[in-house]
Amino acid sequence: MGHTTLIALALMASFAADAAAVERTPWPARKRRTDEGLLRPGVHELKDPKRWPAEPESPPAPLDEKRFRAAFSGMCEGMASPRLLGRISEEILQVAGEAGVDPFLLGALVYRESRCVPTLVTGFGTGLVQIQARMIQANVRGSRLRYQVREGGEWKEHSRPIPAGALSRLQNSLINLRLGAAMLAMWQDQHPAIDEAFAESVPHRSAVAHFGWGDIVRGTGGEDRALTARRRMLNRYLDKTTAPHKTDLGFEVVSPLEGIPRLAPSGPGEDREEGVRAHRGLDIDATAGEPIGSIADGVVWFTGFDLPGRVRPQVVPPDELAATKRPALGPGGLFVCIRHVPGISSCYMHLQSYRVAIHDRVKAGQVIANVGRSGTKASGTHLHLEIHRDGDAIDPAPVLGPELVIPPQETVAHDIALANKKHRLVKERRARWKAHLAAQQAKN
Ligand SMILES: [Zn+2]
Repeated sequence: MGHTTLIALALMASFAADAAAVERTPWPARKRRTDEGLLRPGVHELKDPKRWPAEPESPPAPLDEKRFRAAFSGMCEGMASPRLLGRISEEILQVAGEAGVDPFLLGALVYRESRCVPTLVTGFGTGLVQIQARMIQANVRGSRLRYQVREGGEWKEHSRPIPAGALSRLQNSLINLRLGAAMLAMWQDQHPAIDEAFAESVPHRSAVAHFGWGDIVRGTGGEDRALTARRRMLNRYLDKTTAPHKTDLGFEVVSPLEGIPRLAPSGPGEDREEGVRAHRGLDIDATAGEPIGSIADGVVWFTGFDLPGRVRPQVVPPDELAATKRPALGPGGLFVCIRHVPGISSCYMHLQSYRVAIHDRVKAGQVIANVGRSGTKASGTHLHLEIHRDGDAIDPAPVLGPELVIPPQETVAHDIALANKKHRLVKERRARWKAHLAAQQAKN
């Protein structure tokens, strides 16, 4: 078969695939694209999204405006002025009410997509919920968002009101929220019919997955992060604290991060730097700036910098953090360690900042630091948590328990990490065997 035939066959195949997609829906697949090519299938997610427990219900309307404002502003603290955050929280309540969508979900999307910055423009979209004009423009006509919903086996036209000219005014918070809420309602109305139409989607839990991807969902990391933000906001609104988890360490523990259960895509024993060192802790997926609480009562025994190589970490008190010149950091970055009982301590790494000093007494759940990316080279933002017992690092996942953290064994990323490690060990064994044979031959 010549080259031309192969190309022709490939073209026919792709044409057939497109034709099939058009047959399934009256429109071609809407895709959220990016110039940077960052929107890739995820690996941090659960192998089976059904393993997530059901998401908590929102309280019925009317909501307490003051509490909602405190919950939203608290989550977005430091990202914008308190006045602006207060105004955005009022707009979220108003717009969610008009569109009939969950205000906690809309608030969570604002946090997840733009960290509450109305003027943010990125490769993913514009404004508070990062709307991508080129993905949605076919649905926008005048002051209506038009879309089709499957009813009785047929696609029927629906529409929702949106501000006129919305696509050219996406940096206006109220306009962005109005269009965003209408889009959220649209995905909810079209779901799960679009999942049937676009069977190439990976399994996911809710219509929010489509908010991030468009018609074809290729990963569930974004959905998880939006729903985690919603749980955080809901718990703040309800002033809800979760029951501590019993351990065999002689004390109970609480989650270091809000909005349980949290996802831990990487655990102890995995390779780091291609096997130069082993991972000693649990990586919990998180957003930069998130508050970190101590897992139990204790006394702080370290705050400072991890340094490269076998050098002692450098102690830095919290009030000197900003003024201290940062050296090249070791893989732990900025970190804090707390002793809970004699012989047992916990360490929190890759921090953005910390607010406790050596010898401080802390309570379980007390905020000690903020999530950052210090010291990490390749991985996304996460909290690296270590628990040490008599000098040895133990696995934090069973200590926290499945209600607080979903362990690495449930994630795609962990399987990939273990497969890579196995591949490295096999390669090293082969190299050793080759060297051995060469040495034997040299002797003979
Ligand atoms: Zn879906």
